[in-house]
Amino acid sequence: MARYAKHTFRSGRYTNGIVRRRGMGRYIFLVILIVILVVGGVFLFKFFDSNSYDDENSFTKYAKRYFSSAQDSNSIGKAQQEIKYGKPSSVGLNYPKVKINSIDKQIKILAEREKQSFLGEHEQGSKDEKFAMLMTYDSYKGKQNIASVVLKTVVREEKTNGKLEQVSSKVSVLNFDKETGSRIYPIMVFEPGYQEKLYRYLDEYLKKNYKDKLSKNYKKYIDVKSSKFENFAFDGDKVVLYFAGNTVTDDSQTIKVTISESDIKGLFRKNINSRKIDPSKPMVALTYDDGPAEGTTAKILDILEQNKAVATFFELGKNIENVSDSDKLLKRMDRMGSEIGSHSYSHPNLFTLTDEKVKEQSDLTDKAIKSRIGYVPTLYRPPYGNGNEKTTKIFNKSAILWSVDTLDWKHRNKDNVIKIIKNSGNLDGKVILMHSLYDSTAEATKEIIPWLKAQGYQLVTVSEMLSYKYNEDPKQVKFYGYNFFYPKDKSNDKTKKSN
Ligand code: ZN
Repeated sequence: MARYAKHTFRSGRYTNGIVRRRGMGRYIFLVILIVILVVGGVFLFKFFDSNSYDDENSFTKYAKRYFSSAQDSNSIGKAQQEIKYGKPSSVGLNYPKVKINSIDKQIKILAEREKQSFLGEHEQGSKDEKFAMLMTYDSYKGKQNIASVVLKTVVREEKTNGKLEQVSSKVSVLNFDKETGSRIYPIMVFEPGYQEKLYRYLDEYLKKNYKDKLSKNYKKYIDVKSSKFENFAFDGDKVVLYFAGNTVTDDSQTIKVTISESDIKGLFRKNINSRKIDPSKPMVALTYDDGPAEGTTAKILDILEQNKAVATFFELGKNIENVSDSDKLLKRMDRMGSEIGSHSYSHPNLFTLTDEKVKEQSDLTDKAIKSRIGYVPTLYRPPYGNGNEKTTKIFNKSAILWSVDTLDWKHRNKDNVIKIIKNSGNLDGKVILMHSLYDSTAEATKEIIPWLKAQGYQLVTVSEMLSYKYNEDPKQVKFYGYNFFYPKDKSNDKTKKSN
């Protein structure tokens, strides 16, 4: 036991010795650790916080740090980087390649454009100044096949304290179909009239959330007619709006606003339009009045079908009742994607009728159309173009006049119709008046549709024209007169209305 005790004692001392020495070791270790932490911390702090660069190497690090801090989480495509140091201007681009040629080309063009405009702006700077342009991106997967790429550019400038500060920001968005690579435009995804709805929502939202920062001109950037109002990305079934710095706020930070269907009822279309109309490309609407007509209406529909084209038919209630296969004809128009409008019941001059009689003309035709296709039309065309605000209210539809009159009813000559259309100058945004009654008109249609397509025109219905070209809601009650169907930005257009 004694040996044991001694041993124990010894080992106790031994143990104590260890404890003492371990205490020292711990002290030294702590000192070293503190030194490492301080040195490392200063180094890390310098590394992460270093808000400047002096040469190619440090700019590369600087740009990459920025890229990783703004990394895209959804990551459509693969990031491409381009870093170029310069004095006074350096550029760091980080943008995605999505493996769809047409889209990658567009992305590249946008990135290049930003770069050139930045370099051009700072060309005159002295070598002592320092400007950096940095581009990163967000990407999203939207509903159906939509994908969005948002290129976000900031410009930083060195201030007198030696630090770089953000002085401006820019955003550009590309929305496209992942399968086909075709561009997706807001009007394809939103219901007509969407800009008005978004404007009202944003006005309230911004006032509530950015009260003190709002710029004087913020309304300009959420304005329905502003072409700048295009920076939407589609995230699942939500939409994300981007506002670059110094637009809606007096601040260089980009603002993101996410909106879902429940925020704005009736904002989104149920389906992206299947005919994929491209609002940026020219379009024209053929219209045929006074049908349905025995023989010629079917002939016109055959031609449309062969050319995968659509038109708008302003039909008379009386003809719908009297033409034997009108049921078949109207159903076929509807199925083909063509549009049916009302042209009154018996083609009277509405100006000579009492309000009650005008209403009767409207109601009887609505009833005839509804019994064939299941719904009431949203457009009407007053006979002889004799309509106004008052008749429009009674018809309770949009009144649609025209911008090109082929005079087919007068000449009944195929070549004349073709000549008038071909000599009408730029047809983009125009509505062409023809009649279902004449074989010469059907024959002219056979030639004019392939010609229009070859000229690059998309053939659309009147409602599509209102939505895609003019951003109007075709379901409203409004009078669209002779002067309406002329795009305002086509100043070199020499054609005049002929009626
Ligand atoms: Zn007519």
